[in-house]
Amino acid sequence: MSAPADAPWPPEDRPDGDEDTGSRPALTRRSHPDLMVWAGHLAERRRCPRQHGNRIALGIASPDPAPVTAAATRGILTHRELQERHDRWEAHGAVALACEAPDHHVEAVQADVRAHLDLCPAEDGARYLAGEQVLVTRLEDLGAVVLAIVDAVWEHADGTIELRDYKTGAAPPGPAEDPAALVHALLARTHWPERPSRVTYELLADAPTTAELPVTQDTVEAALGAVGEHVAALRRGEWEARPGPHCRWCDYRRSCPSSQAAAADPS
Ligand code: SF4
Ligand SMILES: [Zn+2]
Repeated sequence: MSAPADAPWPPEDRPDGDEDTGSRPALTRRSHPDLMVWAGHLAERRRCPRQHGNRIALGIASPDPAPVTAAATRGILTHRELQERHDRWEAHGAVALACEAPDHHVEAVQADVRAHLDLCPAEDGARYLAGEQVLVTRLEDLGAVVLAIVDAVWEHADGTIELRDYKTGAAPPGPAEDPAALVHALLARTHWPERPSRVTYELLADAPTTAELPVTQDTVEAALGAVGEHVAALRRGEWEARPGPHCRWCDYRRSCPSSQAAAADPS
């Protein structure tokens, strides 16, 4: 059950993270005239609104954050490595890593780099515009500011803008199934309204390939619909727990009454 729309903000009895009270405020226009919606928020709320509410609505700091996995560390290292190689072009095709990496990650990061070199848009004559680029737009009607960090922005010879996202995990969702890609598409349209554009996922693990989402009017409308649905749920204060195997990686897995972390990880 959500608190009344005009509940004080932040709540006076704000939990300190040691327990989960179950109640959450709605993020009303009055309490939150603008909501910050990052690209990854849509999938997080769909997976478990309670987890998203803990982080976004209450800002509860977890006393026991989930450990960073080896796969996540590999992803961070690969992103940093590719950023460095595009910023310092003479390092782009080098065999040795440009950034330091723990010994047990070097081989995997080198494999990601080799996969990227085969897929790099520079091979097609594209121009690298920026890496780790923060794109932002404000949606007045929704009272929301939409943001994303794009791994790389490329400009092709025909004028097409391509927003690339590196994916180092096994079997990640393609851009057509990932609401984050819709947000990237929306941002591509708002930042380069006169240009053709696309969102491309560079899938670096296993069988490296790319998967594209063209930015069309339909894509933009789908993005606006997805963001609108997300914002409406936050404004209504819908924070139900949706437990599952993902509880194992949730920062609130030890305090949430609905947590399935113990079932997912008997250790
Ligand atoms: S422990 Fe599971 S059910 Fe509870 S907030 Fe986290 S993901 Fe949701
Ligand atoms: Zn490259």
